[in-house]
Amino acid sequence: MEPRPFTDHSFQAYLREGKLMGSRCLACQAVFVPPRALCPQCDQSNMEWELMEGRGKLVAFTCIAIGTPAMLKLGYGRENPYCTGVVELEEKARVVARIEGVDTRNPGTISVGMPLQVDFLQEDSGSGSRTVLAFKPLHAG
Ligand SMILES: [Zn+2]
Repeated sequence: MEPRPFTDHSFQAYLREGKLMGSRCLACQAVFVPPRALCPQCDQSNMEWELMEGRGKLVAFTCIAIGTPAMLKLGYGRENPYCTGVVELEEKARVVARIEGVDTRNPGTISVGMPLQVDFLQEDSGSGSRTVLAFKPLHAG
């Protein structure tokens, strides 16, 4: 099978399959999620796909009460804010994702450094369903 190109499209396709995939630079071993075709650290394009374990910790987050129309349609908003965060994976890549399973109305209960595990949300955006990368607290079920 032909390897998929290192694009957002491929990344999304893997998400639909329930896989969090990144690209690893074979020159300097840096890992990127979503994948990059060219390593920004050493300028090499010698990449290979790598399946992430899907565990990491929260590095930064923000809870958003004023959503886009698409988010409002999904039930998020002032009464039910959604949370977006930066997660540092065990593989050392940093990825921006939705943070689920946390109390977004009480952001003080969400703490940087908390262990997270990957989750794949199916959302109907109106123009068809898509898979959204998310993380939830580790061992939260
Ligand atoms: Zn590199």
